[in-house]
Amino acid sequence: MQDRVWDVVVIGGGNAALVSAMSARDEGAQVLVLERSDRLFRGGNSRHTRNIRCVHGDGSDWNTGAYAQEELWKDLCSVGTGPSNPELAMLTVEASRSVPDWMVAHGARFQRPLAGTLHLGRTNTFFLGGGKALLNSYYRTAEARGIHVLYEARVTELEFQGTRCVALRVDRADGEQVIKARSFVMASGGFEANIDWLRRYWGDAALNYLIRGPRTNDGTVLAALLASGAATAGDERGFHSVAVDARSPRFDGGIATRVDSIPFGVVLNNRAERFYDEGEDIWPKRYAIWGRNIAMQPDQIAYAFWDSQVQGRFLPPMYGSFSAPTIAGVADQLGIDGTAAEATITAFNRCVSPDARERVDPAGLDGVSAAATPPKSNWALPIDTAPFYGIPLRPGITFTYLGVKVDASARVQRADGAPFDNVFAAGEIMSGNILSTGYMAGFGMTIGTVWGRIAGRKAARNGRD
Ligand SMILES: Cc1cc2nc3c(=O)[nH]c(=O)nc-3n(C[C@H](O)[C@H](O)[C@H](O)COP(=O)(O)OP(=O)(O)OC[C@H]3O[C@@H](n4cnc5c(N)ncnc54)[C@H](O)[C@@H]3O)c2cc1C
Repeated sequence: MQDRVWDVVVIGGGNAALVSAMSARDEGAQVLVLERSDRLFRGGNSRHTRNIRCVHGDGSDWNTGAYAQEELWKDLCSVGTGPSNPELAMLTVEASRSVPDWMVAHGARFQRPLAGTLHLGRTNTFFLGGGKALLNSYYRTAEARGIHVLYEARVTELEFQGTRCVALRVDRADGEQVIKARSFVMASGGFEANIDWLRRYWGDAALNYLIRGPRTNDGTVLAALLASGAATAGDERGFHSVAVDARSPRFDGGIATRVDSIPFGVVLNNRAERFYDEGEDIWPKRYAIWGRNIAMQPDQIAYAFWDSQVQGRFLPPMYGSFSAPTIAGVADQLGIDGTAAEATITAFNRCVSPDARERVDPAGLDGVSAAATPPKSNWALPIDTAPFYGIPLRPGITFTYLGVKVDASARVQRADGAPFDNVFAAGEIMSGNILSTGYMAGFGMTIGTVWGRIAGRKAARNGRD
């Protein structure tokens, strides 16, 4: 291993890495994948995924209708402050059209849309068995096509001569190895599991964040690239985050810890105050702002409350909920002031329209609002029917946006303006080129697949073209 000079070495073991590796192999390259995790937990954040968002026509078995390029583009422009680099974002949208066929040709299998609170059956294509099954298929295909995979191989350092990466230092159980290649693809994800790095931008608040994916995404490779002169892309405070059950594990809780009760009730902070419109828009467009909403609250904790009228209308919370005959009883169990919680919710109930129960329609924006402070713009029912329910919430960080700047060839750019000769990037480590502040469900896998194909192909051809 030490003496060999590979055509392409890919760092990472998730979707972007496997797509890069298979694309490089399709070009005839000898490819080595370095995955920090062991075989069982291989696949990074990608193993937690369920679906991908791509342009497609009508008549597919896997979607309930067509999704035109213009519509996907419009959707991307309407999240957060829109795409950070419109040219690279448009390239991503256009290239997404050929992604599902490419995936199938490399071992992926899809399934009919799943029902759920995010209503993604038309726009998103679901993986049969989820992301873990997708990654297992990709690893099988990769190994069958002659790609070498080294597990428990943690890249610690990158060695450069000028603008050329010449070697990697890799930490393994049996000691350090030096790995050489003609080209490198960096697909090692974001830095969301590096709490000290998050603290630089968020202070001690970051100590209260729960990380939805694995500990392995600590940004070691991203930091090494930046230290070697790579230019950055994306907001340093930017991340995708959702409300998760505060009882979830610190790392790797995955998809099941997300809490979807928010539009059906109210959310209080630890001063028993409401702080954000729980019914601002349909849940698929708002679920991803609630992690940040909670991150901005004292002690980064919040509490969802609802009552028996709406119980059962959303996915059941993973660890169950607290319940009591009174709101104060629920609040006591959650550890906040019961009298204050009761007063806030009683005041909220007074702002709800008298005919709310007749007009409410959870299937769409119903305009059934409460003129409270802050307002609740839709689905505002009084919370007045025992038993009452509650759950503690924390920010659940999915992935970070700050990454390395790339060009349309996925080549990593340097802050001094000269690109690296042989360093390419795909996936979360460069998602800041596409995403600014917002996110669309399913687009992380689109970015990883589109840019993995480009990075793998370009890395294989580098110096040959
Ligand atoms: C719970 C959850 C659900 C999600 N659901 C969806 C969904 O349904 N659809 C969607 O599009 N997106 C979803 N996402 C986001 C999605 O997971 C990411 O956008 C995508 O997986 C990123 O792929 P990636 O290959 O860039 O990173 P990852 O899949 O995170 O892979 C990074 C890899 O790099 C390895 N690595 C890290 N550091 C090193 C190192 N120093 N040396 C060697 N290897 C290293 C890690 O072990 C890992 O294998 C979800 C995320 C989470 C957490």
